[in-house]
Amino acid sequence: MRLLVIEDDSAIRGFLARSLQEAGYVVDAAASAQEAEALVMQQEYAAIVLDLGLPDRDGFDVMTSLRQQGVSAPMLILSARRSVDDRVRGLEQGGDDYMTKPFAVAELAARLRNLIRRNNPPVLSTQLRVLDLEIDLLRREAKRGQRALRLTSQEFSLLEYLCRNAGRVVTRSMIMEQVWKMRALPDTNVVDVHIYRLRSKVDEEGERPLIRTLRGVGYVLKDR
Ligand code: CA
Repeated sequence: MRLLVIEDDSAIRGFLARSLQEAGYVVDAAASAQEAEALVMQQEYAAIVLDLGLPDRDGFDVMTSLRQQGVSAPMLILSARRSVDDRVRGLEQGGDDYMTKPFAVAELAARLRNLIRRNNPPVLSTQLRVLDLEIDLLRREAKRGQRALRLTSQEFSLLEYLCRNAGRVVTRSMIMEQVWKMRALPDTNVVDVHIYRLRSKVDEEGERPLIRTLRGVGYVLKDR
């Protein structure tokens, strides 16, 4: 992962570059706003560490212009300016974090890790798979093997719930509450009716039955 350090003080710049390299990053260093702006044209950065007191321009302006250039990398301001006004301004103008000098490298590295993680959330799975059953949560489509299942919206929700709980027994009242968002009514067979219809679509003749009834208890979708 590549970081950009914007810092005019050569001793601090060198120290930052070395310590962040030791923390496992590839580091580009810029000594001025102009250098930084040239670098972001050529590279994508996972995060940017930015000093406020730069020789050619104020760090706040640099931040604004990087954002205007479409830079979306999180920016951590690292500055000797300690006033509340500066901190608030930094965070309000597009900074994602603010640290004051002197600083501890371990803390800087930890904050950078957090910023990078927040900026790259893990991809959420949009598919569920249980044996040869496959459901696509975005398209709301389900297949068993190569066979597409024609499900109503409610049947799809019911199948999704069974898949999420595959291998576990789900009771009628759990289904009522979680799929229908209703309190279970004691003498209704609405769940059984829907399960019956769903099963007739999921388990065709000649296929191994996947939806099992446990009499008096509930249902279980087989996962092995
Ligand atoms: Ca400076």
